[in-house]
Amino acid sequence: MNEQHLPTVGFIGLGHMGSGMVANLQKAGFPLVVSDRRDDAGRDAVNAGARWAATGAEVAAQTDIVITMLPRPTDVDAALFGDHGVLQGIRSGATWIDMSTSVPEVERRVIDATRSLDLHVVDAPVSGMAVGAANGTLQIFVGADAEDFARLRPVFNAMGNADRVIHVGGHGAGYAVKLMINQLWFSHLIATAEVLATGVAAGVDLAVLRRSLIASPANSNFLENDVLSILDHGDYDEGFAVALACKDLGLSIDLSRSVGVPVELSAIVEQIYRRALAQYGETAGEMTPFQLYEDLTSRPLRLAEQQAATA
Ligand code: NAD
Repeated sequence: MNEQHLPTVGFIGLGHMGSGMVANLQKAGFPLVVSDRRDDAGRDAVNAGARWAATGAEVAAQTDIVITMLPRPTDVDAALFGDHGVLQGIRSGATWIDMSTSVPEVERRVIDATRSLDLHVVDAPVSGMAVGAANGTLQIFVGADAEDFARLRPVFNAMGNADRVIHVGGHGAGYAVKLMINQLWFSHLIATAEVLATGVAAGVDLAVLRRSLIASPANSNFLENDVLSILDHGDYDEGFAVALACKDLGLSIDLSRSVGVPVELSAIVEQIYRRALAQYGETAGEMTPFQLYEDLTSRPLRLAEQQAATA
């Protein structure tokens, strides 16, 4: 893949993540054909030179590589197998990359349904939030044949940090790695919320408590970095809806069940997330389960406010 012969990329799903990913593919020079259920979602991409297609079939008929970045496995299924879906237009020898956080069932069905087409199928979910999608600094976990991974590297490098684009295994491995990352991160969030809320309610200054935890064997990246979005700014990350976080937790638990690993802790974390969804609504941010503990103790956990109060 050299600059002169960049393949045309089709991109379906221009939401919080997809819109930024498309912008970075365009900056890297890839010709783009974009589509979304929402007609207005492609405005910026079209203004920057992309073609708009009304259906997945139209996207696939004009492109060498089709990327999907959709909320749920059912959406991926609809985009591929539905009326005027991708499979109705896909070219022989083309590539489909699913970058959604999902599970391998749809991927397996696509592989089965396209045996005569020599379709290259890749799962490549991402981490790094909407801000990473906009800045082109995503981490990308690629489940693919080694040859496909090597061939598609320029596409991934346009959207992510080259040193954090990782070939994690064959088909399905990307989905599994991504679900395990989210499961552990959501577990860190709940554990951190419990500990900070309890310590502060017991009379310890929030900054002192956090510093002590960071200096201890109980430190974590979440405590050192990610929690600051709440503690410094009261930002629960509306760029990733709590409804999608609940989807991920459900898929993660399904995966554990399918491979016969009991995951009691994950099940509790999922239920706490579902409580936050019921309390704050579907579009609340992925970090709102933290707020359950702030509401319970009637104390927003904010470093600046605590410092001001003790000044
Ligand atoms: P989003 O809801 O913001 O965007 C999804 C887009 O897909 C929407 O524009 C919607 O209109 C469109 N869409 C849905 N079904 C469609 C269909 N059948 N055909 C065409 N368009 C369709 O979601 P998002 O936050 O961008 O997340 C996308 C995926 O990325 C999800 O699987 C999510 O779990 C994952 N993810 C999100 C984040 C984040 O921080 N937002 C981070 C990592 C991974």
